Amino acid sequence: MNPFSLPDLPFSHDALSPIISSETIGFHYGKHHAAYFNMLNNLVKDTKFADMKLEEVVKNSFGNPDTQKIFNNAGQAWNHILYWEQMTPGGSNKPSGKLATLIEDNFDTFDKFKENFISASVGVFGSGWCWLIQDNNGLSIMGTPNAENPLAHNKHTLFGLDVWEHAYYLDYQNIRPNHVKAVLENAINWDYVSDRLI
Ligand code: MN
Repeated sequence: MNPFSLPDLPFSHDALSPIISSETIGFHYGKHHAAYFNMLNNLVKDTKFADMKLEEVVKNSFGNPDTQKIFNNAGQAWNHILYWEQMTPGGSNKPSGKLATLIEDNFDTFDKFKENFISASVGVFGSGWCWLIQDNNGLSIMGTPNAENPLAHNKHTLFGLDVWEHAYYLDYQNIRPNHVKAVLENAINWDYVSDRLI
């Protein structure tokens, strides 16, 4: 039996339309996310990684050329679980409570936070992710290449946006900032993000 399995999508394929179309989710969840799990299961066969939790595979395979392929697929498997969980069908709310205060403390206003997040997303060269992380100094934005994530760097993730072209090309073509802006304003469940605060 395979040690890792693709979780169900927490909503229907058209639930985030038109911010993220049904067609994009069909490929992104049904093909890309599923493929990372299939490849991961093949790669961990008969290795120590087959007995680990996904988070442990991410941490223990990172930074070693011998386990780079395992990391790439485990990282992407983990990244996309969070990616789907943090989205909310039917429109976004706004950060409130402690999250709103932390955003104001670290970025001045929610609008400035969004501007910074969009710039950081555009600043990720090629394929990668843009994250909001929390540590002792408060909140910060972190861009990573390919499958890399805050978990691999022992950082705590609050949410993350996929800026691989497969995440937006069908809906926004090459205009990455428009996709990121639309998702930040209309698809992120800020209550979910709040619940991840440490
Ligand atoms: Mn993706």
